[in-house]
Amino acid sequence: MYGFTLLSENEITARKPHTCDWCFTKIPVGEKYVKFVYIYDGFTRESFHPECYAAMNTTASISDSEERCTCKHKRGEVCNA
Ligand SMILES: [Zn+2]
Ligand SMILES: [Zn+2]
Repeated sequence: MYGFTLLSENEITARKPHTCDWCFTKIPVGEKYVKFVYIYDGFTRESFHPECYAAMNTTASISDSEERCTCKHKRGEVCNA
């Protein structure tokens, strides 16, 4: 049984490098990013550029039971799949 539970969603400044889970490019130290923590089939912590997070939310409801697509997106690009 799966459910989506949002734990936190904050835009913060990176204190260590991260990789964006939407465009898979680097988020350097000092840059703002969205830290997105939820439970969906396990505890998951993801990082996004703010514009990538917006693109993801434009693409699909984050609480949708559908799996997120696995295609490659450019930074800030809305998914067309
Ligand atoms: Zn990104
Ligand atoms: Zn996609």
